[in-house]
Amino acid sequence: MARYTGAVCRLCRREGMKLYLKGDRCYSDKCAFATKQYAPGQHGQSRKKVSEYGIQLREKQKVRRIYGIAEKQFRIYFEKAERKQGVTGENLLRLLELRLDSVVYRLGMASSRIDARQLVRHGHFTVDGKKVNIPSYQVKPGQVITVKEGSRKSPKFEEIAAAIAHRNAPQWLEVDKENLVGKVVALPGREDIDLPINEQLIVELYSR
Ligand code: SF4
Repeated sequence: MARYTGAVCRLCRREGMKLYLKGDRCYSDKCAFATKQYAPGQHGQSRKKVSEYGIQLREKQKVRRIYGIAEKQFRIYFEKAERKQGVTGENLLRLLELRLDSVVYRLGMASSRIDARQLVRHGHFTVDGKKVNIPSYQVKPGQVITVKEGSRKSPKFEEIAAAIAHRNAPQWLEVDKENLVGKVVALPGREDIDLPINEQLIVELYSR
């Protein structure tokens, strides 16, 4: 399945929760979910009994949509998570959190993961001094993410430099807000990933 390119607010309404896909708008009264807390479409307001499978499926879709991952790639992440030592659900979330686009977002250098993905694609970041324009690049502890010298003076990054002052990075990241430099100082633990999701349901879904 190709990456979803439609109206993203519909996705929040479909999942019945804010997925924070539109940056600052999500925190404002313009948020579509604040006014329409029901699924989009003709039958969006009807109450349906949801099966166990349906609940597991929705949880997977939520996570997929939060990180903007296509179905096939999500399955690959899951298989990778299964092969790792530890709890599969947590491994899965950790792999997603450590994508370069997600790290950029968590550092506060983008207003949303969608924004971060675009900035990465346009080649505005370096990892350990080397340009990386692959949003799925897996960042490792110890690596340093920097805004490219030539990009720092652009209006977009001037805007980011002003906005980052009000954003807080999680404790597994270190950020120098003045110079727009970030570092992964540890692997994120489950408690660091502040998403209201039950990843165990995804494990159950794929174990069917
Ligand atoms: Fe979701 Fe953000 Fe749109 Fe609100 S504004 S519905 S949180 S994407």
